[in-house]
Amino acid sequence: MKRHVSIRRMAADVVIVGGGIVGASAALALAVAGRKVVLLERDLCGSRSSGINYGGVRRQGRPPSQLPLAQRAHRIWEGLPELIGIDGEYVRSGHFKLARSAADMQALEAYAEISKPFGLGIELISGARLRAQCPWLGGAVVGGSLCPEDGQANPRLVAPAFARAAQRAGVQILERCEVREAGYDGTAFSVRAELDGEPLQVRAAVMINCAGAWAGKLAEGFGEAVPLFSGHPNMAVTEPIPHFLPWSLGVEGGSIYCRQVGRGNVVLGGGRGYAQDERRARSSHEAILSLLPQAVELLPALRHVHIIRTWSGVEGYLPDRQPVLGPSGTQAGLFHGFGFCGAGFQIGPAAGEVLAELILHGRSDTPIDAFSIRRFLPVADFNLVPEPERKIQ
Ligand SMILES: Cc1cc2nc3c(=O)[nH]c(=O)nc-3n(C[C@H](O)[C@H](O)[C@H](O)COP(=O)(O)OP(=O)(O)OC[C@H]3O[C@@H](n4cnc5c(N)ncnc54)[C@H](O)[C@@H]3O)c2cc1C
Repeated sequence: MKRHVSIRRMAADVVIVGGGIVGASAALALAVAGRKVVLLERDLCGSRSSGINYGGVRRQGRPPSQLPLAQRAHRIWEGLPELIGIDGEYVRSGHFKLARSAADMQALEAYAEISKPFGLGIELISGARLRAQCPWLGGAVVGGSLCPEDGQANPRLVAPAFARAAQRAGVQILERCEVREAGYDGTAFSVRAELDGEPLQVRAAVMINCAGAWAGKLAEGFGEAVPLFSGHPNMAVTEPIPHFLPWSLGVEGGSIYCRQVGRGNVVLGGGRGYAQDERRARSSHEAILSLLPQAVELLPALRHVHIIRTWSGVEGYLPDRQPVLGPSGTQAGLFHGFGFCGAGFQIGPAAGEVLAELILHGRSDTPIDAFSIRRFLPVADFNLVPEPERKIQ
């Protein structure tokens, strides 16, 4: 006899797919504004890119199109304990981007100039001041650019805390709940998922796609195929050593970055890991073997220091290295926030707030035109169906 499987049904104002930093911060902002939100997360909230990244909370180096969003995020990070209940080991330690040649230094000078209108407060440091201020630096560096209020945080603490704060604000979070398909039936979104092996259906007037590196399939289901691809930043961390490194470091050209946490471990990033499958990634031997000599050259204190762990993650990238953030180009009531190209931890909280604003007020003062999904749609596909009557105000 055929087993009858009953479908668990839920209804909400907004259904969010993905409980990374972007989905959880959108959920939090919407719940605070009184909306009924259901968030569906395939694994555990904050267990993917948002919880395993390098922990750089950096504005310096972003393209000018991202700086208004990054500045907004900068203000959110400042009030983290009030917003999510913990400080997440966030410190405004400063971010120092190093130049290893005169050409690199010129590039840093040019960036300091173009980013001036955004008020990052960048200082260029070279010559005797560099040696006096950075006795821990190896010989290959000729100068650098310091953004004193950029910083670092512990992603393992911050990302899940956004989801827990959203839950406290009233968001219904379902973890280990994989969304299988989503559609719009003329009155509402119908999202079909699997929770503990049982089918679940959520209906909502608004849907947000924050599924990170896996968001492409959902977007494609609404006729918005995007060239999203997965990348796997390569990471390593040393044993704890006496504290010597005040800033988070990057290098012009991007081959290596590192920071020292309060416990003394030095976190290193650079190169690419590899995919084990669609959902899992590992650091690669080649990338680690290329990273270590660079690290010792940059920071001689790392000679003879042990690496205690290496890892990677699955992050969504788009060819122009800009995220997709904003309304769908084909379906009213659908919003996207994904594809943060290895740099979404800092701007994630602001991206979530912007998504909430778009839903609550139909607009945001933060410019996001550069992130429109329409940049990937053929002009003929701009076939936005009329705005449906919304159940929420
Ligand atoms: C190793 C590494 C280092 C990085 N370093 C930095 C850094 O120093 N600074 C910085 O700013 N950024 C950094 N990033 C990038 C940053 O971590 C990401 O851009 C950001 O976390 C993206 O957040 P998200 O919420 O979009 O995605 P995610 O955190 O990936 O969240 C998406 C969620 O959607 C869920 N999901 C997917 N499909 C489904 C489905 N069908 N049903 C239900 N749930 C689903 C996933 O399980 C996941 O939890 C790094 C990334 C990596 C991988």
